[in-house]
Amino acid sequence: MIRDPEHEKMPRRELEQLQLERLKVKVREVYEKVPYYRQAFKEKGVTPDHVQTLADLVKLPFTSKLDFRDNYPFGLMAVPHEQVVRIHSSSGTTGKPIIAPYTQGDIDTWAEIMARTLAAGGTTKYDVMQNAYGYGLFTGGLGFHYGAERLGCTVIPTSGGNTKRQILLLQDLETTVITCTPSYALILCETALDMGVDLRETKLRLGFMGAEPWSEQMRKDVEERMGISAINIYGLTEIIGPGVSVECTHKCGMHIAEDHFLVEIINPKSGEQIPYGEEGELVITTLTKEAQPVLRFRTRDIVSLNPEPCECGRTLARMSRVTGRSDDMLIVRGVNVFPSQIESVLLDVEGVEPHYLIVVDRQHQFKSDELEVWIEVSEAVFSDEIQKMEDLEKRLRAEMDSVLGISARIKLVEPRTIARTEGKAKRVVDRSEL
Ligand code: AMP
Ligand code: ZN
Repeated sequence: MIRDPEHEKMPRRELEQLQLERLKVKVREVYEKVPYYRQAFKEKGVTPDHVQTLADLVKLPFTSKLDFRDNYPFGLMAVPHEQVVRIHSSSGTTGKPIIAPYTQGDIDTWAEIMARTLAAGGTTKYDVMQNAYGYGLFTGGLGFHYGAERLGCTVIPTSGGNTKRQILLLQDLETTVITCTPSYALILCETALDMGVDLRETKLRLGFMGAEPWSEQMRKDVEERMGISAINIYGLTEIIGPGVSVECTHKCGMHIAEDHFLVEIINPKSGEQIPYGEEGELVITTLTKEAQPVLRFRTRDIVSLNPEPCECGRTLARMSRVTGRSDDMLIVRGVNVFPSQIESVLLDVEGVEPHYLIVVDRQHQFKSDELEVWIEVSEAVFSDEIQKMEDLEKRLRAEMDSVLGISARIKLVEPRTIARTEGKAKRVVDRSEL
């Protein structure tokens, strides 16, 4: 059923040969079909002929989120519109979203990758998978859905939310695999507790969690409370959605689907490649994407790679958990948030000073699934009646909700209490630093 099962266990030399063949084809394709890339090649003084080995990859230009925005919506597309059968978009909430078009071939490849991904984590066709990733523009819902159908298990497409019903279905339909963000897993646990349901006594045995950073402690917590084995899965809209990498049942790093994605680790400051094993920014080149192939995408995710074969027999390199980002993006309940977006909300509200702090809890990363923002108020508001402060807080919460699409805990603080810094302001702080 899975198209290329041998790819997962190929000797690395053969795998690299396959990658090189695919790379050469893609490089030529984007050069010929995407004016943006042709120009970027010109600026670097390279042509597709310069790519003869995998090491030649460093000669090619990077692609960044900004390049996606500058070429919005279809400037990076390599096929005519009539070949596009679906469009997804990133979870970012303001500004221009990242657009991800797919051909029928892309949907098919993605289903394959996701079927393989689910199987690597231990799912079989006998499983009942409740898919609580959001369906819609977000890649999570449909990515898992197609993969599960390809694998042949039963899918319950609950999407996110409506948590009590999720718990009910999970019991009555005898769900064995739950797929959702780690933060939603915690909400499921809490709701089950409120309903007097012990998830450990259900048929649930496996979970695929990702789309946002989470820690080993959080995994332990979710595993214990749900009575499952929780598998980490990674992906991003620009590349394909979920399925870029996933843990096998040994849970010792996420195997990258290297027959489809060529990875590098770079020093985020210099842009130079650094050896596997060292931490750096993950850079991905798509080898099989048709509608929108991407060369050397700078993910901004900080990871390290391990190319050693795994106990499971897979030769696909493994990436560590994402330990941070090389930009200031935060992910709150699966939604990408940049401090600048929060700032733009604040600056529109009267009575608020442009001094704020976003407080995160890196120890239990995103365990608190709420964003906490401390905001300084003006002298005038502060010396006024309490009611005014309360109204302001309410207004800020509503604005934040409508602009960012997520709720934030707002704490109004006295004028001049947030530390000023010379040079770059530090907007995001860890709770332990307060
Ligand atoms: P999006 O394109 O909106 O799906 O967001 C993709 C981003 O989510 C990635 O670049 C990562 O920063 C983050 N992400 C996805 N999966 C994981 C994961 N398993 N662990 C940590 N971060 C993740
Ligand atoms: Zn493995």
